This record gives sequence, structure tokens and C-alpha cells, in this order.
Amino acid sequence: MTATTLTPRPVVPMTLADRCDRCGAQAFIRAVFTSGELTFCGHHGRELLAPLTRAAIVIEDATDLINAQPSPSANSD
Ligand SMILES: [Zn+2]
Repeated sequence: MTATTLTPRPVVPMTLADRCDRCGAQAFIRAVFTSGELTFCGHHGRELLAPLTRAAIVIEDATDLINAQPSPSANSD
């Protein structure tokens, strides 16, 4: 069994186009497998972290970027 690498920053930055595979929210966690990858929001990424660390090759965690920039809708009336 190979050890999962938990990286603090994605190799390829995640964008607004990267969506959670569970709920469709913006993704901040990417789990890379030999067969592809899954992306998750902070909530679902943390919820699934234990099984992901057992199965994924790399888990990229960018949850520190949540709320790093104000949401465009935060100031809308
Ligand atoms: Zn989600």
C-alpha cells in the first residue's frame, strides 16, 4: 500500500470552475487517483478525508483559501 501525500497547495490551482463532486459548491480539496481525480468543497472534503487518504495518491488541500477573497455576491444588494 502506498502512502497518500497531503499537499497544502494544489499543483494545478483550483478555480471557480472546479466544483464539488457531491454538492456542486466551489471545490477546495482535490483527491488524485490512478484513474482520475475527484474534487470536493471544504465540507465534503473533510467529511470524506479518512476514506480519501486510504485510496488517493495525493490529496491537495486549498481550504485555507476559503474566504481569502470576498465573494462577488457579498456586497450585492
Ligand atoms: Zn460539497
